[in-house]
Amino acid sequence: MSGLRSVEEQRALVLAEAQPLPSETVALAHAHGRTLREPLRARVDIPVFDNSAMDGFAVHFADVQDASPDAPVRLRVVADLPAGTALDPALAPGEAARIMTGSPMPTDADAIVPFEDTEGGLADSLGEVVVVRAPARPGLHVRRRGEDAVVGDEILGAGTLLGGLQLGAAAAAGIAAVVVSPRPRVAVVSTGSELVAPGEPLVHGQIPESNSELLAGLVAEAGGEVVLRRSVPDDGDGPVAAISAAAARGAHVVIFTGGVSAGAYEVVKNTLADTMEFSRIAMQPGKPQGFGTTAEGVLLFGLPGNPVSAAVSFDVFVRPALLALQGRSDLDRARLRLPAAIGWRTPPGRRQYLPAAIDRSDPGRWTVAPATGGGSASHLAGGLARAEAYAIVPAETDAVAAGDLVDVMLIS
Ligand code: AMP
Ligand code: MG
Repeated sequence: MSGLRSVEEQRALVLAEAQPLPSETVALAHAHGRTLREPLRARVDIPVFDNSAMDGFAVHFADVQDASPDAPVRLRVVADLPAGTALDPALAPGEAARIMTGSPMPTDADAIVPFEDTEGGLADSLGEVVVVRAPARPGLHVRRRGEDAVVGDEILGAGTLLGGLQLGAAAAAGIAAVVVSPRPRVAVVSTGSELVAPGEPLVHGQIPESNSELLAGLVAEAGGEVVLRRSVPDDGDGPVAAISAAAARGAHVVIFTGGVSAGAYEVVKNTLADTMEFSRIAMQPGKPQGFGTTAEGVLLFGLPGNPVSAAVSFDVFVRPALLALQGRSDLDRARLRLPAAIGWRTPPGRRQYLPAAIDRSDPGRWTVAPATGGGSASHLAGGLARAEAYAIVPAETDAVAAGDLVDVMLIS
């Protein structure tokens, strides 16, 4: 279709304006969901000291290397080492220390005999121990200091999203606070004189306003913080006032939905023509898009109002911008190539982003199918709830047949 801008070009225009926000230092307990902005370096070795990987006995390997059920070896137990002990008992030949998992290895010992390899196990573990199986080699069941990381090693690179695994690693590395991005502050503004709050009685012509729920959720999932929600009618200068209100709350981003296409009452287009550029993009849904920045550098997005269009537009343009503001190193969703379970039609001349469900019942062969019965129509807001992905079909493709391999962008 002529006169349409490519998705890549629009995305590049957006990302050129989305520079990382100034970073801040926060305690680990407040860092979940934030993006790391400086590499994380270990402040202690992991493990911190040589320690036992088993409950059992710290021994001289030479004492027990010939132990067997027929030739058990008796050792004197001269110390008990629970986790947290500061003891480092001397062990003469023929002596052992009872030791628990994670307790520091005595300097004199070079092997661990687990309870399972002794005659009495835990029961006869103080006083004397009878070893009935030799450890295969010295050092067995000993976790060495620094074998995972040593002081100064990079644990995580800048641009990483901090989840539970990452925060656990940071804590294990002796780190108490991290340099992260602030959450981008986002205003969500719905436009449309037909919209009423969800649950309110509807007179003919009215519909529940759903985009602000949709977008507030997607903003939070992308690490942003919603600082303003507002619904404005199709007449008046609601969008202009909304930008002022958003700026007063320190917003970095304002997302409008509706009022950007070619109808008679396009309130975003009509009131913000000086601040935003309104373009037609070679995608379906999501053809009409508005984007701009205020003099203060607030990013303004004008997404089409159909809920599916708004959702797709968010994922293609707004989410990457929110991640870029946070300094995230990877702005893209994970992609897979999956066979289509059924066929569907695609729009001519525009790249299709089809809300899709993935059948994962065969782990070796996932398949993808439209999430909405009506295909890719952009008004099917209910079916959107079943989408786990967007199937991305190139502009040149007219139809997808069952079995065709399709690019799939995972969103859950
Ligand atoms: P628009 O882009 O303003 O022309 O809106 C396109 C379609 O999306 C119309 O059917 C609107 O009623 C619907 N729509 C627009 N905004 C919302 C919203 N916030 N919640 C639910 N539907 C909306
Ligand atoms: Mg509208």
